[in-house]
Amino acid sequence: MTVLVVGGAGYIGSHAARALSLRGENVILYDNLSTGFRALAEGRDLVVGDIADVDRLESAMRRVDAVMHFAAHAYVGESVENPRKYFQNNVVAGLNLLDTAVRCGVRNFVFSSTCAVYGVPARTPITEDFPREPVNPYGASKLFFERALHAYQHAYGLRYACLRYFNAAGADESGELGELHEPETHLIPLALAAASGSGEPLSIFGEDYPTPDGTCVRDFIHVNDLAEAHVLALQNISDSGESLVLNLGTGEGHSVREVLAVVKQVTGREVPHKIVPRRAGDPPVLVADASKAKALLGWKAQRNLTDIISTAWNWMQKRAAITA
Ligand code: UDP
Repeated sequence: MTVLVVGGAGYIGSHAARALSLRGENVILYDNLSTGFRALAEGRDLVVGDIADVDRLESAMRRVDAVMHFAAHAYVGESVENPRKYFQNNVVAGLNLLDTAVRCGVRNFVFSSTCAVYGVPARTPITEDFPREPVNPYGASKLFFERALHAYQHAYGLRYACLRYFNAAGADESGELGELHEPETHLIPLALAAASGSGEPLSIFGEDYPTPDGTCVRDFIHVNDLAEAHVLALQNISDSGESLVLNLGTGEGHSVREVLAVVKQVTGREVPHKIVPRRAGDPPVLVADASKAKALLGWKAQRNLTDIISTAWNWMQKRAAITA
């Protein structure tokens, strides 16, 4: 099978491309390099283009059997400040991608969704049938796209997998791929940068949450576990002809303070930090119930928080050379 990995020069897309190649699939990356990096596409067939560019997209689409779509803006805070950017890219340009796939007869579509579609859930762990009530434009844009996929399935015979990630983190074990965001806003890379002395002390956003140590609890999932789930999900929809909506998490929560403790274990260094007020829109606890992915794909996360932080640390040390 030949797969168009849209957003394939980004963090999760580049890991999915590698997982597809390891399974023997042909991969074409499509990325406008606005937030992706050429270095993460090294050695792969890369088409530099925007998902709003119909002609370029169509000529790439004619060469493939399936699409994995990672090309979205994904900063919650920015989506609140600049919703136009989020609806324009994640919805309007995203629909352009979807329409192009349908027009070119590409039937299998894997979509990178998010637990942000659940908003602030009443309980935890979260199953896929929890109400979808996003509390920011980012989550709303992802939910819109999920609904479009659902409607297109009935109307145009598309098969899709919506994969709702919890907190993607970590890096490929080779040290050749990893997280690169500009600006970086995520907890683990910022905590590692603080520990190494290359970044500012970490700001912990609130320690008065109703959690055991007062800091937020998240379900951190290794990017290669996510990547493997994408490969299995694509195989599943293409073999069964049925669509899928799945949570991808470990089912285990870790608090911000627990993350800092593991960063210390892995790096041997304290994480300089300070407590600051809560960040708007952060639910206290987000943990997946990932049993549906286990039942339908036989998938279960293989890597734990120590693996996540060790691989992220390895990547941080190597990436300066790779991205120079
Ligand atoms: N967090 C923090 N300080 C930071 C960045 C994140 O305390 O500098 C906390 C944040 O409040 C959340 C958790 O770490 O509870 C994970 O945040 P991140 O931005 O990594 O991912 P998100 O949950 O927003 O997808």
